[in-house]
Amino acid sequence: MARDPYEVLGVEPDATEQQIKKAFRALARELHPDVNAHDPAGEEKFKEAAEAYEILSDEERRATYDRYGHEGLRSGGYAPNFEGFGSISDLFNAFFGAATARPGRAQGGDVAVAVEIDLLEAARGLKAPVRYEMVDRCDSCHGNGAEPGTPIETCERCGGAGQLQAVTRTPFGQMMRTMLCDVCRGEGRVPQRPCKSCRGRGRRAVTRELAVDVPAGIADGQRIRLSGHGHAGEAAAAAGDLYVVVKVRPDERFIREGDDLITALDVPAPLAAIGGTLEVPTLDGATEVELPAGIQPGEVITLRGAGMPALRRGRHGDLRVVVNVLVPRRLTEEQLELMERLNDSLTDENLRSQESVFAKLRRALGSQAA
Ligand SMILES: [Zn+2]
Ligand SMILES: [Zn+2]
Repeated sequence: MARDPYEVLGVEPDATEQQIKKAFRALARELHPDVNAHDPAGEEKFKEAAEAYEILSDEERRATYDRYGHEGLRSGGYAPNFEGFGSISDLFNAFFGAATARPGRAQGGDVAVAVEIDLLEAARGLKAPVRYEMVDRCDSCHGNGAEPGTPIETCERCGGAGQLQAVTRTPFGQMMRTMLCDVCRGEGRVPQRPCKSCRGRGRRAVTRELAVDVPAGIADGQRIRLSGHGHAGEAAAAAGDLYVVVKVRPDERFIREGDDLITALDVPAPLAAIGGTLEVPTLDGATEVELPAGIQPGEVITLRGAGMPALRRGRHGDLRVVVNVLVPRRLTEEQLELMERLNDSLTDENLRSQESVFAKLRRALGSQAA
């Protein structure tokens, strides 16, 4: 069911020619494929808008529509005509007058490849080997598509210009379109005997290996762009880019939060009470931390600068050691007796805390929440 063209353009039934033109122009800008690439329905919406404009911008068509609706237009032999438009961009260009843009030779496409590293490698940076399939220029003919030693002659279809001109009638008037020559594909010259290696295409698929510089501090999911390392373009056109997507394998010892690392340190309850020294893992190997007597579950000891390096900045994040107090279980007779004696000996002075209930809860629920 075709929608009401007034509704499509968002104008009143008595809108002037100027208002209609203005409304369409605004809508076309909004729906431009370059602006609106994320909306898969954008092209349909733009076509709908163009069709509405085609009806309302023509006095006779508009009058017919006003009296008899879409049915009347169809029975009068009218059908929306977008022939001659290769793509939505052409349609847009026809309206905005950008149709003179010279069709270029196709630039090479981008290639994406994933590389997986561990946290330590992410912290240090490395040269990561990657292997990917890509379309490269043919070695044999150096991309010109001719069997080596055979002549390349001027294209007869376009006379060597590489492009063809065509005039099309559009709802917005006559439009000169420039197209890439379909015989020489813009080269202006045609090999008489196509290269055997690439069957005249000038390009072929190869496997490429590369060592990619992964900077220290990279995070999981970040991409590194190597411009010009993607697929080769047509003829002299630029190659696409290579995107290396970096996956950082999780490290069971650490949780990463930005440039900071977080680790949990198991502390037996008696040791937490009397204080002491314990080993914690860091990226540079184990190190010792001092636990003050009376440290509580969830308290955090921060090792400044022992986190991840910040990407492209000099500073390092911190390592946050979260104290996990272990209450002993499965006690022997002797231990049980010791515990009972200890428990009986405890006074308010031993257990008093300055913390509010909220602070205690916050700590118990994880210091990160604070
Ligand atoms: Zn070749
Ligand atoms: Zn040609």
